Amino acid sequence: MSYMYKKLVVPSMLLAVCGIAPKQFLFVIAKECVSLTATVTYNKADSESAKNLYVVQKSERTTKALKSKSAPTKTVSEVPQFAPGLPRWPTDNRAFFDNKPLSDYIQPTQSGRLVSGLWGCTRNQGKKFHAGTDIKSIHRDRRYVPQDCIFAALPGKVAYINTNPKNSVYGNYVVLEHFEPNLCFYTLYAHLASVEPTLKVGQSVAQSALLGIMGCTGNVPGLYYAHVHFEVGLSVGTEQTFAQWYNRQTAKPGDLNVHGKWHAFNLVSLDPLEFFRAKSNFMHFLKAQPIAFTLFAATNKIPDFMAQNTALGVLPSGKFYGWKIDFTWFGAVVHFEPLLQPQKEKWQVISVDKQELEKNGNRHTLEFDKDNRPFLGETLKRFLFELFGEDF
Ligand SMILES: [Zn+2]
Repeated sequence: MSYMYKKLVVPSMLLAVCGIAPKQFLFVIAKECVSLTATVTYNKADSESAKNLYVVQKSERTTKALKSKSAPTKTVSEVPQFAPGLPRWPTDNRAFFDNKPLSDYIQPTQSGRLVSGLWGCTRNQGKKFHAGTDIKSIHRDRRYVPQDCIFAALPGKVAYINTNPKNSVYGNYVVLEHFEPNLCFYTLYAHLASVEPTLKVGQSVAQSALLGIMGCTGNVPGLYYAHVHFEVGLSVGTEQTFAQWYNRQTAKPGDLNVHGKWHAFNLVSLDPLEFFRAKSNFMHFLKAQPIAFTLFAATNKIPDFMAQNTALGVLPSGKFYGWKIDFTWFGAVVHFEPLLQPQKEKWQVISVDKQELEKNGNRHTLEFDKDNRPFLGETLKRFLFELFGEDF
């Protein structure tokens, strides 16, 4: 696609769908999208159902378009969604910051339940954990294909790009790493129709940098359900410890660990909406998380996670026997410190707030058997293995 084509035709195409948003607003979007290829993926069945939906919604959109003609002119830059230093919304949807209802910005699953698009144990009657927030499309073309640009929530570095949508439930996805003093965290943007082609791993990106276009790649049931799955959290293990865990889990020959430490199983995510609400940097947001339980873990290793994230704890200065670690109910490390006394057990529960542990659903971190004896749930076992490269 030539530059001139992008410069003139793509914005014009977007302007043509002004039934979805005010013209001036779309022009800003179009300008920001100009360096993207216009190719987006969708399947035929989706196209048909989308057409029907389009007919149903056309009159509503036409009404909105007429109304928009007299609406005051507003652009993205005139209406900031975020204060300096705070995360921005990864699309140009303002609804969350305007305290609009969830239905204005959350994309539910086929269940239709809005809560299913939220982070947490929000699916399958609370049995299934959803690691991100699913943000809906607000800009569609005539074929109902999303046109929403996806932006970097914060300045950072490109950590990972997957452009083979078939090899992940996330489809096409981008992971950014963000750095605060002695703390590293990630944001993840999944199910993209296309990734911004100039984006390269290792590259620094500014806040609001264009990462791609919203889509329905990966495990999204179709075009109608297109959204960006947005995550924020901590990467637990190293490439090596994750590969060790992964290789033990997948007995199938040829099943490759293609995403390395940026596989979903190596990430512990926090609630993105809470992060926006916190109006603080990530360290303060993380440290404000309630502690659900504290463990002793006996090992003589200093994991990369501890070495890189000393904002969360202290490293041993001499001989040590393991770690005392504070966890949230979903398994995020909030604080750690070295154990200076030998331990008899490989692990031990120091304290637990059962109400906090159980109030949000079962993430299989610390669990209790019928005799009320604690045991390590599968998620916590995995995190500990990925942290230390050994079993607990
Ligand atoms: Zn999701």
